[in-house]
Amino acid sequence: MQVEVSRRRFLQGSIAMSVVGSSAVTATNLFASSEHEHSNVPKSITTKTGTGEATEVATLCEMCVNKCAAIARVENGVVTKLNPNPMFPKSKNMLCPRGNAGIQALYDPDRLKYPMIRIGEKGEGKFKRVSWEEAYEAILNGTDKFPGMGKILDEEEDNRSSFLFCAGEGMAEHTFKQFYGAFGSSNWLNHASLCLQTVITGYSLTIGGYAAADLENAEYIIMAGANRAEAIVTPDTMDVFKRTKGRGAKLICVDPRFTNTAAKSDKWLAINPGTDLAFVLALTYVVMTEELYNKEYVENNFNGFDEYKKSVIDNKYTPEWAEKITNVKAKDIYKIAREFMAHAPKAVYYPGRRSTFANNDFQLRRAMAIFQGLGGGIDTKGGLVFGKKLKLGKHAGLEPLYERAEARAVDKIKHPAKGHAGYSDCAVVSGGGSWIAWRNRFLEDRMPYKVRGMFIYKHNPMMNMPNIKKTAEMLKKMELVVAIDTMPSDTVMYADVVLPEATYLERTDPVKTFGGIEPSIAQRNKVVEPMFETKPVIAIMKGLTEKISKPLWEITKKYDEDVQDELAEAIKPPKAPKNVDENATASAPIAPVKTAAEADAEIYEEFDLTKPFHHSQEEVNEHMVKSVYGEEAVKALKEHGVFYPDMDKYYKSISVNEHQYYPEKEKHYSVNGGLPKTKSKKVECNLASLAKKGVDPMPIWREEYNFKVEDGKFRLLTGRHAQFTQSGTSNNSVLRDLIMENYIWINKRVAKKRGIEFGDMVEVSSRTGKTQLKAYPTEKVGPNAVFFVHGFGEESEALTWAYKNGGNDNAVIEDVTEPVYGAASMHETNVEIRKV
Ligand code: SF4
Repeated sequence: MQVEVSRRRFLQGSIAMSVVGSSAVTATNLFASSEHEHSNVPKSITTKTGTGEATEVATLCEMCVNKCAAIARVENGVVTKLNPNPMFPKSKNMLCPRGNAGIQALYDPDRLKYPMIRIGEKGEGKFKRVSWEEAYEAILNGTDKFPGMGKILDEEEDNRSSFLFCAGEGMAEHTFKQFYGAFGSSNWLNHASLCLQTVITGYSLTIGGYAAADLENAEYIIMAGANRAEAIVTPDTMDVFKRTKGRGAKLICVDPRFTNTAAKSDKWLAINPGTDLAFVLALTYVVMTEELYNKEYVENNFNGFDEYKKSVIDNKYTPEWAEKITNVKAKDIYKIAREFMAHAPKAVYYPGRRSTFANNDFQLRRAMAIFQGLGGGIDTKGGLVFGKKLKLGKHAGLEPLYERAEARAVDKIKHPAKGHAGYSDCAVVSGGGSWIAWRNRFLEDRMPYKVRGMFIYKHNPMMNMPNIKKTAEMLKKMELVVAIDTMPSDTVMYADVVLPEATYLERTDPVKTFGGIEPSIAQRNKVVEPMFETKPVIAIMKGLTEKISKPLWEITKKYDEDVQDELAEAIKPPKAPKNVDENATASAPIAPVKTAAEADAEIYEEFDLTKPFHHSQEEVNEHMVKSVYGEEAVKALKEHGVFYPDMDKYYKSISVNEHQYYPEKEKHYSVNGGLPKTKSKKVECNLASLAKKGVDPMPIWREEYNFKVEDGKFRLLTGRHAQFTQSGTSNNSVLRDLIMENYIWINKRVAKKRGIEFGDMVEVSSRTGKTQLKAYPTEKVGPNAVFFVHGFGEESEALTWAYKNGGNDNAVIEDVTEPVYGAASMHETNVEIRKV
């Protein structure tokens, strides 16, 4: 990345730096030069040892989505250590390697430091450093390189939906979403369709929620496609391998690869990728035919059980049938079905946190949830639990109605056949949308209106969405791209305006309630002041809305007939009173109650985009907590980062790694009396609402679910690693010490035949594209599949450690979406492997 610094700033002497070429310098140079400007910038972060005076600030980790509680040690304005905070029930006393490496997110020399405007071509990474005011001005009025939002909105006659908003997961996503709501677009995309969309909706429609597993009390666990010992090491992981297994609970691992989880389990079933649905249907077949299910629970709490039972039996989903599809032996399926039900309700078919892998993923989740219900293990100790959520006070946002704003840009089919969803891409359009479908519609000009600009917050679709070529094309075609981020990611390289966000250790985020058996409220407190010219997103939104609110209001007045009528009505003189004295002499006309300026000001209030950002995050949090729990809670959140009623009475440290948060009798194993949380309070086996949308109302196996591995090719599998959080931590040099780069797993015998040895560079290619990485021949994967970890191989030159480090799976994965929500099916791609 090249950053050009204006001549005026350079001469002002506010920065002394080495200039590379003409006026372009590297991001690293900008970091070095600025050490003198900020007292909290470390001179050297490696020599701090933790001796001397230190303050401690309770905060929450943001190195992955889990939000574990941490205590930051600060010495002379420098964060020198992150320790686990034992007081948070969700994370207990744990901070994983990524959590410990959070310091590097703060002190990464490559991080974004100043607002920037694009001066080169899109994707080239040539930017000019500007002030915040100049950045906001460019967003509103554009530059010679790109149009501003004022021009776009004027040309689109105030169609607010001509802007797309997208965000990655995070506590401040809520603040960004307030801006989206106030702005009034209908086009919102989040990471769900690239992540947990099908598991959340599959479980929600079937049992009323994406419940947590009470692993502490479970006696039997089936963990399928969830690689807890390797992919995400959180306190739940510790529970599985320390407490649960330690008590003698049985763990069955179902995975095409021999993972660390498989190594620690009692039984590993090397299932064919994408066939878990057939496995669950066969388990269900055994339970149905042998009548092993909890009859009383099923009778009282199931809808559509008889139809589902008939479907499973009539379709002959026998273990023998499943063996041919799944590669799991029939005898094992019989055994596991019987054992699971013998331990139920203290038996868990683990819901998992993985992305959508196969086209049948939604139906798989429905089948898993129903199977769980057959043993009665819903909303109960040792089974799946919904847990309680503590209430928080409300904080008003702003969602004005723009008459000209179009509905979400979907591709509706004019005359859908009976039972067809009515959309070209998927059956249901969720709140988070289908990222791939949206991008492809945009590229193929299948939008009902023009979308010309986008705001991206903490999101890296260039790395995280299959088919990066298409994503790059989309970003190039978009006329105005504004990116808010902490790092110069591949996506940021395509932005027109870059707004640098403060890292999680430099900001207070919206207070959050964490439900569960032991519910609590937690707060990410600011540990140190933001470095360089970065700001928390709430301050970014404040500055931006102060700049754009009034000019956009002028555009709304120009095109919005509702607003025009309202304004005209407001300045009309009141009607003359009836029964006026006929003999009275003519008087002066009655004056309007309001002047035009007063009416304008009054109606503008509804459209004042600055409103949600008048208060600081600290003030908003305080209000939300104090209004429900009083001053005590505010104090606890500042001091401990955590609060729950009676915490002072309940919380006890028993030993270093054992803590009591709630006494046993106060824990919320059940919040619904053991019932599902669906509207009907029943497990929904047969959903007519799905059938209406052209979706199978009950989970069934379809022929097209059989993936064909083409001759000489491999099915590509991808996943995550506990020391890396997708592309979010790819440039973290501390974590790179733990996993230097990703390697492709290839079956040892197959590799030998192809002359591929450990460490050889190979090219992985598909119809979508190619990538290169080193080979890891192993017996831990079958001959038809290959695997490598996601999150590597970024193309942004501004990322010193991540740049071209390893292979990028999304350069190769084809843009296949599952049919229900249009979520990305990550494991539906054939690849070729070639030694280079
Ligand atoms: S699991 Fe690790 S990275 Fe994720 S929030 Fe917890 S400490 Fe941070």
